[in-house]
Amino acid sequence: MSETTVSLMPEIQEFLAQTHGHFIDNAVVPSRSGAVMDDVNPATREVLTTVARGGAEDVDLAVKAAKRAFEAGAWANMPPNQRGILLWRLADLIEQRIDIAAQLDSLDMGMPIRQSRYGTTPMAIDHLRYMAGWATKVEGRTIPVSAGSFFNYTVREPVGVVAAIIPWNFPLLMAIWKLGAALATGCTVVLKPAEQSPLSALMLAQWAREVGFPAGVINVVTGYGSEAGAALVAHPDVDKVAFTGSTEVGKSIMKTAADRMARVSMELGGKSPNIICADANIKRAVSGSMLGIFMNQGEVCSAGSRIYVARAIYDQVLEAMETYAKTLRVGHPLDHRTQMGPVVSDEQYQRVMHYIEVAHREGASLIAGGGAMSEAGPGYFIQPTVFAGVEDQMTIAQEEIFGPVVAVMPFDDLDEVVSRANQSIYGLAAGVWTENVRTAHYLAQRLKAGTVWVNAYHVYDAAAPWGGFKQSGFGREMGSYALDLYTEVKDVWIGL
Ligand code: NAP
Ligand code: MG
Repeated sequence: MSETTVSLMPEIQEFLAQTHGHFIDNAVVPSRSGAVMDDVNPATREVLTTVARGGAEDVDLAVKAAKRAFEAGAWANMPPNQRGILLWRLADLIEQRIDIAAQLDSLDMGMPIRQSRYGTTPMAIDHLRYMAGWATKVEGRTIPVSAGSFFNYTVREPVGVVAAIIPWNFPLLMAIWKLGAALATGCTVVLKPAEQSPLSALMLAQWAREVGFPAGVINVVTGYGSEAGAALVAHPDVDKVAFTGSTEVGKSIMKTAADRMARVSMELGGKSPNIICADANIKRAVSGSMLGIFMNQGEVCSAGSRIYVARAIYDQVLEAMETYAKTLRVGHPLDHRTQMGPVVSDEQYQRVMHYIEVAHREGASLIAGGGAMSEAGPGYFIQPTVFAGVEDQMTIAQEEIFGPVVAVMPFDDLDEVVSRANQSIYGLAAGVWTENVRTAHYLAQRLKAGTVWVNAYHVYDAAAPWGGFKQSGFGREMGSYALDLYTEVKDVWIGL
């Protein structure tokens, strides 16, 4: 499908034609400096539009707006059922405009429209509704103390102004994972979307204003991480930084936040192992594992990028993976037939190509892909790539590639594969394929990961906690656990 046959919805065309400022205090405002930056379409390498390039002054205005809204109580002191209703209304509005939301993310960062329209955008809507329900359920406890005649109870108070910093791989969903729990608990937010994919955050903020969110509750500052992002993390009035992104940037944010003891939560990178046992349903294991790596071009924190296969079925599985990778439909993200789109940017393209080169140099054997996919279009298209003959110490078995490249390795017994799977600085997710219930529970217990999928991969739910072990971060973003990230516990003693 060529670019000329892809039709953009009129609403998208209209949105792209707007001047994209920051969203502060319910108003669209340009950068104080007047600076802008280009937003590139990864399917064509062309500039889609320009957005404001925020700096410290813009961040200061946004944080002040969020702080005013927090302290005035327009949000935190709003009856919680009213906060819940606003979150629910926002979910309803996104649902009414789901095609616009889905097309905008696909256009901005390259995810296949089928995935954004039927996967991530519905998940974002569901997440808002789930968190809307929590607004009325942020409860404390009464505690029977032995210290004397006291009535002791706890309350959960919103932490204050939250800086939400997110990556480009699932723009709307990442924004809503943070906004949902932060807003349900009564915090106000300054959101910094990734430079590569700022559009859906800007549209979301306008939609929130439309359904009645008070000024200052949701603010968006666009710009570079080193400028807008760094200024936000360093701002003294930011009480909490909720970060999703690379482990490297996460570490630097923690260091800055440490100076004033700002709260932080970290959703970071991964190198997730995916184990296919000899007794697995091979057909399902192969298609599930291929989805596990190639979904969203491999640009998923929990991508199953290390596949361990029982030696007895190794050749058979590898052959099936080769066929799968060679027949995956790579194409324009807005084409409904497309299963894999372009990677997000030139930088990401170079990075993935570099890892492919390193894999060759270190002696891995290429089974499928391994190069650019120019027939898919002029954008940053890369072939679904499978390497076999990979050793545990090779770079592609250790480092996060964040692209459509998988390392496949044989294993002989369960204890061996557990120890190899756990030999990683990361611990975000893991997959297991087996028909044996004992093996399933044994591996689920021993794998060091925040999520273990058995006979499934890439399943998520608003009610199920999400987050990492080790250098994949800490804190849990979904489910009731997410409320802990945005609240402080206050204990009250009443002398009787
Ligand atoms: P990244 O480079 O760490 O960027 C993430 C965000 O941080 C962007 O908004 C970025 O801004 C900003 N940033 C960069 N430097 C900063 C600084 N010094 N101070 C404050 N903010 C700064 O990550 P990415 O390349 O966008 O995303 C890929 C990574 O995210 C992968 O490692 C992936 O595993 C991880 N991820 C994790 C999860 C999870 O749930 N655990 C989910 C999705 C992605 P700019 O982009 O504008 O420079
Ligand atoms: Mg873009």
